[in-house]
Amino acid sequence: MQILVAGGAGFIGSHLARRLARDGHDVVVVDNLITGSARNVELLCEFPNIRFVRHDITEPLSQKLGDFDMIMDMACPASPVDFSSKAIEILRVCSVGVQNLLELAKKNNAVFLQSSTSECYGDPLVNPQPETYWGNVNPIGIRSCYDEGKRFAEALVTAYHRKYRVRTRIARIFNTYGPDMRLDDGRVVSNFICQALKGEPLSVYGDGGQTRSFCYVDDLVEGLIRLAGSDFSEPVNLGNPQEIPVRQLAEEVIEFTGSSSRVQFLPLPKDDPKVRRPDISLAGKILNWRPEVDRIAGIKKTIPYFRKMLGLLNE
Ligand code: UDP
Repeated sequence: MQILVAGGAGFIGSHLARRLARDGHDVVVVDNLITGSARNVELLCEFPNIRFVRHDITEPLSQKLGDFDMIMDMACPASPVDFSSKAIEILRVCSVGVQNLLELAKKNNAVFLQSSTSECYGDPLVNPQPETYWGNVNPIGIRSCYDEGKRFAEALVTAYHRKYRVRTRIARIFNTYGPDMRLDDGRVVSNFICQALKGEPLSVYGDGGQTRSFCYVDDLVEGLIRLAGSDFSEPVNLGNPQEIPVRQLAEEVIEFTGSSSRVQFLPLPKDDPKVRRPDISLAGKILNWRPEVDRIAGIKKTIPYFRKMLGLLNE
């Protein structure tokens, strides 16, 4: 197939593009590199069947990019540290950007997959979260650019499905980690591993009692590919339901890195969800998908990447 991956220089997008290329597809990656990395682009360029085009999808996409059987939208800054400095860019990419891709999908009669998020559930009042839960979102809070942007995108994607019969798919992605994350990504897994490797205190926000459920990136990519190949147009949760308090993650990272770092408690950011855990029974039923890599194995696979990157910085 000819596949367009928007945001393919980002963390999940670059893993997805490489997997598609390894599966034998011709892949065009577009990314404006607002958060995507030059290193990820270098990794993409090692594949003869991946073409990288630097482009901001809030601008119309050129016909010259080619004809596509499938369009996968992974484009959007997604780390909470980006929510204050890149709020407008996030709202634009989730609205104008998604519509530009949907128009292209309509013209090409292509399958369109939107990467949505567990943030659609906001600070959830039910745990675990099934797709039928409508969420608890602060529309003007610090996270609202992302939460409401992604909720708007789901509405837009669904409208194109209803009105134009575009074959749309919506993946609600939960916390994902693995090699090729940005070192300064600001998220909990990258922060903790880098801090532990540098012997710095691990920055636990609040009392660390808030929970998350962490999915290894290869599992997530497998779920995305299965969802794209299905005919299911409603949202599907993709994530690992192993839920832990953030403080426990800090202790595990200290143990697996063999670090002498300690934990440091810092103020909890506003609107930080207190719990998060995917109900993945729908993905199990319609995609026969469930994560294979448990957190301990996944973190142990991830630490060497950060060790190598920090080592390169020090050279
Ligand atoms: N967190 C933390 N220390 C950090 C970064 C994050 O304790 O250095 C917490 C954060 O407050 C949240 C959880 O870890 O409760 C996950 O944060 P992340 O930014 O990775 O993603 P989120 O799930 O909030 O989108």
